[in-house]
Amino acid sequence: MALSYSTRNKRNAAFIETCNAMSVDDFGGSHEVRDAILALRPFFQGEIIFPSNKDYDADRMLSNPVFQFHPIVILYCKTEVDAALALGLCRDQGLPFSVRSGGHCTAGFSGNNGVMIDVKNLNGILIDEDAKTAVCGTGVEFGDFQQALDPYHLNVPGGECADVCVGGYVQGGGFGFTAAKYGISCDNVIEVRVLLADGTVAVSNKDKNPELLWAVCGGTGGNFGILLTVKFQLHDLDKCYGFALDWALDTDQEVEQAAQALCYLQNDYMLNSVAGPDLTLQLHIGFQYVDDSKTKMKPFLMVRGLWAGDVGQGPDVIAPLKALPGMLRDHFWEAVDTFYVMNHKLLHYPQGMPPMPPGPDPLEDKSSHYVTRDLALGEWQQMLGFMKTSLPNKSFAYMEVYGGAIAERDRLSNAFVHRDAAFNLILDVFWKDD
Ligand SMILES: Cc1cc2nc3c(=O)[nH]c(=O)nc-3n(C[C@H](O)[C@H](O)[C@H](O)COP(=O)(O)OP(=O)(O)OC[C@H]3O[C@@H](n4cnc5c(N)ncnc54)[C@H](O)[C@@H]3O)c2cc1C
Repeated sequence: MALSYSTRNKRNAAFIETCNAMSVDDFGGSHEVRDAILALRPFFQGEIIFPSNKDYDADRMLSNPVFQFHPIVILYCKTEVDAALALGLCRDQGLPFSVRSGGHCTAGFSGNNGVMIDVKNLNGILIDEDAKTAVCGTGVEFGDFQQALDPYHLNVPGGECADVCVGGYVQGGGFGFTAAKYGISCDNVIEVRVLLADGTVAVSNKDKNPELLWAVCGGTGGNFGILLTVKFQLHDLDKCYGFALDWALDTDQEVEQAAQALCYLQNDYMLNSVAGPDLTLQLHIGFQYVDDSKTKMKPFLMVRGLWAGDVGQGPDVIAPLKALPGMLRDHFWEAVDTFYVMNHKLLHYPQGMPPMPPGPDPLEDKSSHYVTRDLALGEWQQMLGFMKTSLPNKSFAYMEVYGGAIAERDRLSNAFVHRDAAFNLILDVFWKDD
């Protein structure tokens, strides 16, 4: 029989060499695990990364370096069969594992010290323009997805941050700048394919295995199997209107004006918004540079939003907000653009997240809470006053405003039950060293 010198055969030979050079302790002390991983190699199409691999330290990281996991192996699935092989390995060897799409889980649930099954390469996007649907692999990044949808003038709520992935995002709900109009992202999921623990693939839609679709949509990631693909119902969206309004928070009077603006927003632009579901808002309390040399920072309340109705009406819709006392006229920003471009601009114009000093990625801690009741003026003032005491470029708070289509949907229509929230309040803290 002729010997094949294909790249894969060379790769397999190199892999066996690597495994032979490793101690059995590197495989959790088990010869069986070592043999099972060796047996997997010829059939597994993706990369297999061990701690001895030069890329291991970068590959084991989640988006937030505060989480430090040291998996015995990282399996980068290139195909869905790879995912089944990876899951089979964990099942047969009784190995703990986690599934990672984008690695953005703020609780670190996509990492562990056993097997890390990474599905970021399951990242195909298939758009059906006529049916207005899209099927995505769960490794699809929202930046890529929204860019692909833009030429078709179609939209579905997606992660504001471009590298958040479909896999973790839709299973947690998923807020984006069109969520008030189209609902939380998982409300737009019409079919999923899930690799179950026994290695079979379950298709779930409203007619077939509907309870699995119900649970995956908002039931949080990593609970029901490996999510392989997600089919979204898309919506027409051409140009949209975006804006940003700022209030200074220096003096007591400015804090009071900002707190009054928040009361006004709460009454008229959150649950039962006078603007209707076409307006999605995000509010920020944090520090920004106020000089060109970037040495001086001051605290601001920033209100940004996207109007997904008739763009010509956008300025009228926000006119009452612009007229509120304390709104900084020279900070006002507005633009009309496609959704993909506008989503980027809304995160970076006129200001983005509190700027961090250059260097390695900061460590981060985040805490979020759904707020369902009205806050009194004094409570808003207290919140603004508290944020002013935080370290300038190390923390901020933001609110994703719900209402609209999120609130309209029946509370038990899927596992995302937070329908009565006026907003999701998120506190974010960064640091460079202990
Ligand atoms: C910088 C940043 C920006 C963010 N922006 C937004 C935002 O705009 N809107 C918003 O709603 N949220 C946002 N989030 C939160 C984000 O939605 C969640 O962290 C989400 O889980 C990220 O998805 P992921 O695939 O990147 O995460 P991962 O960390 O890969 O996964 C999250 C969870 O899902 C599981 N999981 C992942 N893939 C699969 C799969 N294929 N099958 C089964 N389980 C799986 C993981 O095991 C883990 O439990 C943001 C987070 C960060 C860090």
